[in-house]
Amino acid sequence: MAGLPSYLRPGAPRPELPGLEAVFGRPPFVLADFVGRALAFLRGREAAGTGFRFQEAACLPCTWKCVDESLFGVDLILLAYTGRYPFAKGLMGGFFNRAALGAAVQHGPINLDFGGGHVGYQPGPGGGSFGRVRRPQQGHDSTDCGYLTALLAPFVQAYRQAGRDIRLHSPDGDKVVVSLPEEYLRPESSGRGVRLLVDLDALTAGPVPPGLAEPEAGRSLFSVRPDFLDRLPGDEAGLFRSPRPRPIGLRLGAECFNIFDPRAELDQAGLPRPRLLQFMNSIVSDRQAPPGLAVSLVNAGLEHRRLVEAVREPDFEPCAFASFSGLFIDLYSEDLEAYANLFQPLSLLLKPAGRSRGLELGPEEIHQRFEDLKPVPPRRPLAQVLGFEPPADLAERFTFRPGFFREPEEPAGRA
Ligand SMILES: [Zn+2]
Repeated sequence: MAGLPSYLRPGAPRPELPGLEAVFGRPPFVLADFVGRALAFLRGREAAGTGFRFQEAACLPCTWKCVDESLFGVDLILLAYTGRYPFAKGLMGGFFNRAALGAAVQHGPINLDFGGGHVGYQPGPGGGSFGRVRRPQQGHDSTDCGYLTALLAPFVQAYRQAGRDIRLHSPDGDKVVVSLPEEYLRPESSGRGVRLLVDLDALTAGPVPPGLAEPEAGRSLFSVRPDFLDRLPGDEAGLFRSPRPRPIGLRLGAECFNIFDPRAELDQAGLPRPRLLQFMNSIVSDRQAPPGLAVSLVNAGLEHRRLVEAVREPDFEPCAFASFSGLFIDLYSEDLEAYANLFQPLSLLLKPAGRSRGLELGPEEIHQRFEDLKPVPPRRPLAQVLGFEPPADLAERFTFRPGFFREPEEPAGRA
């Protein structure tokens, strides 16, 4: 695979991340309710069975999340439930700040972490839309998470351009051929920052038989792999069995291409910074989730793995960690003139003091356990700390299911 960065070549290390169906198989929690259930879980028999000793007086509530003001309710909710100010272990974009860990364990021997990525959600028909939220000071909405959306934008643009440029047709009404512009075959021929390279083995079954069709200038023709057509949903394959070339569009699946920024910074292991650049092919081509949701979810999964690796280091063995990671879903309430958050859990790490490992649970296991728990009440009334009672209909306003969503509307003339 000439021209590919080493982190995209076959065999490069790639952590397993929970799939969208597993994560959104159940509706998210109202954040305050999730925190109440998390505290109930920590006091329960299963947590004690792992060797985790919950001592309220020794707990330091911590967050790792983006700096966005739409997430300030997370701090207030932790204050309401624990009676204490939370310690910040997060950076812009929802990255885990490894450098904050040493100080955090000096401040409290049991760290209660609530962290993850975030995404704006606007309720509405058709599952609502992700990636933007109301910004009252501006009088309009804007991207959320803005940092990840900006990082993602050139990748989405390159993918959608390729979807328009790569065309399929059938010269004889039977065999389907794909017409590929040179820039998707040879990265050095493209002048753009972000490069997209088609994986010829995954999409094609070799050059077209002689005499079947001639390529246009600057393009090459290949036979399409039959299993590519077989995998298309419904009658989509039928669209391409026509003499008129049609763009491949969103049917260009993650397995058929690589996408990368050749200027990306690499760490000592040759992995990109940020690590989520390794997953951009899946994020931009996901048909079940819009890119703004997929990018925050992938980043939260990767940053949780970084957190797990960090707390397992020998320096932190004497300390206990209860780390709840997931996705904060930000809604703006016009009635309250405030942000309210849902939380979709991804992972839980429960590491008792004196051990390097502990209990790890995935999204389905967290839901199964938490749904039957009676939430612990807050120590201070939520309405007093937040300034309002969390809206009673918050959970019902979230109607997304995998594949059921609308693309956000971009206001004309605004980024
Ligand atoms: Zn953000």
